Amino acid sequence: MANSAARIPGIPPHYSFALGEARVTLVADGALSLGNPTTTFKGVSAAEIESILTSHFLPIDRLTIDQNIGVVDIRGKRALFETGMGSDQSLGPYAGRLQDSLRQASISPASIDALVCSHAHPDHIGGICADDGEPLFPNATVYLSKVDFDFWTDERNLGTNLDLGVRIARKNLMPVRERIAFFDDGEEFLPGIRALFATGHTLGHSCFMVTSGDEQMYLIGDLSHHHVLLLERPDLQFVYDIDPEQAVVSRLKALDMLAETRTQVLAYHFPWPGIGHIGAWKSGFRFFPKPMAF
Ligand SMILES: [Zn+2]
Repeated sequence: MANSAARIPGIPPHYSFALGEARVTLVADGALSLGNPTTTFKGVSAAEIESILTSHFLPIDRLTIDQNIGVVDIRGKRALFETGMGSDQSLGPYAGRLQDSLRQASISPASIDALVCSHAHPDHIGGICADDGEPLFPNATVYLSKVDFDFWTDERNLGTNLDLGVRIARKNLMPVRERIAFFDDGEEFLPGIRALFATGHTLGHSCFMVTSGDEQMYLIGDLSHHHVLLLERPDLQFVYDIDPEQAVVSRLKALDMLAETRTQVLAYHFPWPGIGHIGAWKSGFRFFPKPMAF
């Protein structure tokens, strides 16, 4: 209980640092409750999940993950990566804090030029429009893969087990349809910002590399939802993956690259603020948080 009590919305955090000539400000949408971890991952026994979590001093009865949103000022453009849950509370009452967090960081929604989304799940596109369909970032172009847009706005998926995701995607994406730009794999679609497809979690899931001067930051999106489980056991399948086997292939490829090149990452769902490095460790990987500098 102590853990969840500590997550009752208070002052939304923000944290800012330089990346080459660019400026990165991290804001928070708040925490998501994913329920019992033993039902969230496939291909592993409950005993092993509990053993890994226990060895990291984490609770075994509930999985809580963060939503770390990056605002990047780079070469005259301001891009915001992922938009949080908006008003949807299907993953608990502690999310939907983006607008408060931006206010706290003195960032006006009207100053955002680009909303960059790794994929079209509710916790990534849920904060694009208000409940009445009004765009919450009036001057922003929305960047997303076409595959994800087509899949998650497809009305034929309504009434299936994808129903909630499709309804939330349609609510947030259809009102801004004319302002959506699709990026291709490998494309530098904004100055210094490149899309790198890592499909499987969704069919158009993408990661992003931000480059400024001689510094880089790789935004992992939902390549790994958990800073321990899906790194120590990168072969695990996550219950929300559309193509779990492909997700494992993409995860292993990207994690190998990140460990090999020692590239800084921003991990959307890792513990706040989600900045650090991923290194090879035992038969998998480990997240090494970067100390915050105040
Ligand atoms: Zn997510």
